[in-house]
Amino acid sequence: MNTAKNIIEIICPCLIKNNNKLSEKDVNEYIIDKKINSECHICLEEFNQGETVSVIKCGHFYHTHCLYSWFLTRKVCPLCDIELIID
Ligand SMILES: [Zn+2]
Ligand SMILES: [Zn+2]
Repeated sequence: MNTAKNIIEIICPCLIKNNNKLSEKDVNEYIIDKKINSECHICLEEFNQGETVSVIKCGHFYHTHCLYSWFLTRKVCPLCDIELIID
């Protein structure tokens, strides 16, 4: 289950990390430093500079606001259905 870290390394140059170092939480938030050529599978919009994304432990990432509205109904990854523990 270390896929998340691999993906984070791939997208890392595009993201500014929060001050706290990578935690073992199921969901970690980042701010996008430059446009990522990828889309959020919840709203189907591309990720743009300055937006906040949440990277979850399976390695998938979504806009934070999209993910949290999704979490209101189900606390799983929208793509792979993995269960998530959120603070
Ligand atoms: Zn979105
Ligand atoms: Zn997933």
